[in-house]
Amino acid sequence: MSTLCNNITDKLLSPNFRKSILLHIAFWDVGKDSRKYESAIEAVETLFTMASQSRENEERAHRYVMIAEKIAARMDITLKPTIKRSYCKKCKTLYGSSTQIRLSSKIMTVKCGHCGSIRRIPY
Ligand SMILES: [Zn+2]
Repeated sequence: MSTLCNNITDKLLSPNFRKSILLHIAFWDVGKDSRKYESAIEAVETLFTMASQSRENEERAHRYVMIAEKIAARMDITLKPTIKRSYCKKCKTLYGSSTQIRLSSKIMTVKCGHCGSIRRIPY
């Protein structure tokens, strides 16, 4: 894991981590410096694994997803389809046991168990 990732993980564990992470992001140069870009991708992936590991703590998972999205937006990262489809775009919670999935001939309909928003994914 890169030092950037370690920094982020340390900051997440501190009490006012949200504030510090946003400051951290604010001082990044926006631009496709490949090293920064790659470490940002790594950070986003780490945040999503951390989110899925802390599913039982809904609030924490939600925060991880929010921060990961923020980093992705800032660094202009396209999330992988596997990541993109693992959480609700409306309420930013990970899909879980309460999610309803219906399969029709060409479309997978996913209904979020938390906010009830419906998403249709072709397959
Ligand atoms: Zn939702």
